[in-house]
Amino acid sequence: MNTARILDGNALSASIRANLAERAAALRSRGVNPCLAVILVGEDPASSVYVRNKVNACEKAGLLSLRDVYPADTDPAVVFARIAELNADPTVHGILVQLPLPNQFDSDAVLEAIAPVKDVDGFHAENVGALMQGKPRFISCTPYGVMEMLKSEKVAMKGAEVVIVGRSNIVGKPMAMLLLQQSATVTICHSQTRDLKAHTLRADILVAAVGKARMITGDMIKPGATVIDVGINRLPPEQGGKLCGDVDFESAKNVAGLITPVPGGVGPMTITMLLANTIEAAERTVEAP
Ligand code: NDP
Repeated sequence: MNTARILDGNALSASIRANLAERAAALRSRGVNPCLAVILVGEDPASSVYVRNKVNACEKAGLLSLRDVYPADTDPAVVFARIAELNADPTVHGILVQLPLPNQFDSDAVLEAIAPVKDVDGFHAENVGALMQGKPRFISCTPYGVMEMLKSEKVAMKGAEVVIVGRSNIVGKPMAMLLLQQSATVTICHSQTRDLKAHTLRADILVAAVGKARMITGDMIKPGATVIDVGINRLPPEQGGKLCGDVDFESAKNVAGLITPVPGGVGPMTITMLLANTIEAAERTVEAP
């Protein structure tokens, strides 16, 4: 029985973060303290954990971070005013608004309010458009992390059949653009796709970004394929309450050639690439004429 190699996102993150810490130190020696500002509105427990992890990761890599936490009933005008302040502050290099926002917010309008040069999540329409044209300024962190994982393992992308399950603006669509730019043949599947398995079985590289626990099973995977599991799902308490991906790891690992685990796969890479984007933003301020 085949057993897939595991693509360890923690190990790759550690080596990238060591390099980022060196770049942060080099910036500090030039008088620039790379700084990420994070805005959180409300008390969503998952969002609070994500924000804490992001702030901790900044500190460990030698980046400054600002954290603004607002109650759930905050008037959007307050957040827009804070974003404007951060946009104008030359000591802040990256701005991130943690999603989802409470209902009184128009999330798209909030993301568009962030200065594109500080949009380290890569969600601003200007940055999405630049990615589409093959000239990205910031690549959204999860797809960026996946690309680094594929490159680290020298996974052949040119001409490869890639199937992405999920078409969200933050994962599926930018992922497709990046793989297309590497000359892969890309298929994007979604909830209306007829016969998902017929597509996934063709994939040399399969990316699952759905949000449905263990929906991709071993019988849906081409033998030897590279399987990237973006999903983060919490199992119900009666099934142990653990985190799991969109891929059924136990059956998939017997078929795939290379596979990312959950946890410890794409998740840590997402935060690492946020740090990378913030450092890149700070470096650009030094390089700018
Ligand atoms: P969204 O809910 O925005 O998108 C999910 C996508 O899956 C949609 O395009 C939807 O199709 C599609 N889909 C739903 N059901 C099916 C189905 N039965 N068959 C095929 N496609 C289906 O999710 P996100 O992209 O934001 O996130 C996806 C997962 O990745 C989540 O588990 C999330 O927690 C995780 N995630 C992990 C990150 C990390 O750092 N590892 C970062 C970001 C997200 P349709 O468009 O037709 O509705």
